[in-house]
Amino acid sequence: MTTSFDTLGLSAELRRAITEAGYTQPTPIQAKAIPVVLAGRDVLAAAQTGTGKTAGFTLPLLQRLMASAAPEGARRPVRALVLTPTRELAAQVGENVATYGRHLPLRSAVIFGGVKINPQIERLRAGVDVLVATPGRLLDHLSQRSVDLSQLQILVLDEADRMLDMGFIHDIRKVLARLPAQRQNLLFSATFSEEIRRLATGLLHEPEMIEVAPRNTTAERVAQVVHPVDRERKRELLSQLIAQGDWRQVLVFTRTKHGANRLAQQLEKDGLSAAAIHGNKSQNARTQALAGFKDGRVRVLVATDIAARGLDIDQLPHVVNYELPNVPEDYVHRIGRTGRAGSEGEALSLVCVDEHKLLRDIERLLRREVPKVVVPGFEPDPNARPEPIQQGRGGRGDSRGRRGGARSGGGRAREGGANAGGQRRRPPRQA
Ligand code: AMP
Repeated sequence: MTTSFDTLGLSAELRRAITEAGYTQPTPIQAKAIPVVLAGRDVLAAAQTGTGKTAGFTLPLLQRLMASAAPEGARRPVRALVLTPTRELAAQVGENVATYGRHLPLRSAVIFGGVKINPQIERLRAGVDVLVATPGRLLDHLSQRSVDLSQLQILVLDEADRMLDMGFIHDIRKVLARLPAQRQNLLFSATFSEEIRRLATGLLHEPEMIEVAPRNTTAERVAQVVHPVDRERKRELLSQLIAQGDWRQVLVFTRTKHGANRLAQQLEKDGLSAAAIHGNKSQNARTQALAGFKDGRVRVLVATDIAARGLDIDQLPHVVNYELPNVPEDYVHRIGRTGRAGSEGEALSLVCVDEHKLLRDIERLLRREVPKVVVPGFEPDPNARPEPIQQGRGGRGDSRGRRGGARSGGGRAREGGANAGGQRRRPPRQA
């Protein structure tokens, strides 16, 4: 059952842009979302990056704007707004809008913080049909009255879960308060935590629920391997792998903040430049660690699941699960950091006897086994007895003193990405 772009109801101009982009067939999310958005319905979509979701909302959005084009010559008010968590995503969505809208007389702009506001003001003043923005900078513009959202017809919240993870809920609510009540709302999120559900309930009007399978190609594209190893020897093995492989940029996941700190310190002692990033660190410390990681000063970044969610890093050559996540979906999120956009990626997991059940759950989700490779010299003790993994327990070689990370995942413990991931498959169905 293949769908063609020709049957989705898109205009000739959009189809031409699609052909020029080299797409021959809509992705599942596009096949599902495009007709629904064209029909003017609200949408609640469970879709991760890589599924083609951006075109899934951008194409029909552009078409709807064309159907009610702003009068020529009039100062153009913003009619479609896409909110994104990060600048990078805003820029990416902006590029998509430009690409798909290239044969349409619509104007778009991208605004985000950290850059001068004046050029943005000028751009907005010249008239913009589609605005892509991060919440904070949009609020700046609203308070300066440099943007007019009173004529808004379509609102898109892209990667809504990430926006909430990054603490944007109040900003989002402030923006919502400035929008006309009559509008079409599209909410895209990879996961469905309680907070997302609450947001969706207040925002969406009889939404169409759209779900697509997570990009299974992530798991297929990334070379995955499990190194069975004793709990107490994980750090030693990790240091050896990094040094012998001469890895320059490694993202390492731990289950807890405490575990992340501890591991970063131990790696430093092994002579590897490392930094930990998690919810207890100040924004400044996180920014610095990330900048160091991006420019090569920090070789190993140790992160908890939640902290990693807010980071704009992907296409990494190496991702290491120092400890397996409690929730299998988090494994897919983690390894999705590597091997993107066709680049080679490697995800390896150091798995001790405590984690065998977690590994089985992950393999069940992936619907395949991950190859196990014992590193010579690190053969696990066949008589090792599993210890229970408690919430927030650090796992690896520090069975002492781990009161620190009593909640799974570190970062924003209130929602635990774990739960969010676990519930992704069952967003609330509406009539
Ligand atoms: P997204 O999930 O929106 O970030 O899109 C992931 C990637 O898929 C982007 O590089 C798009 O250019 C590409 N893409 C989107 N739709 C299609 C399609 N129908 N066929 C092939 N590639 C696509």
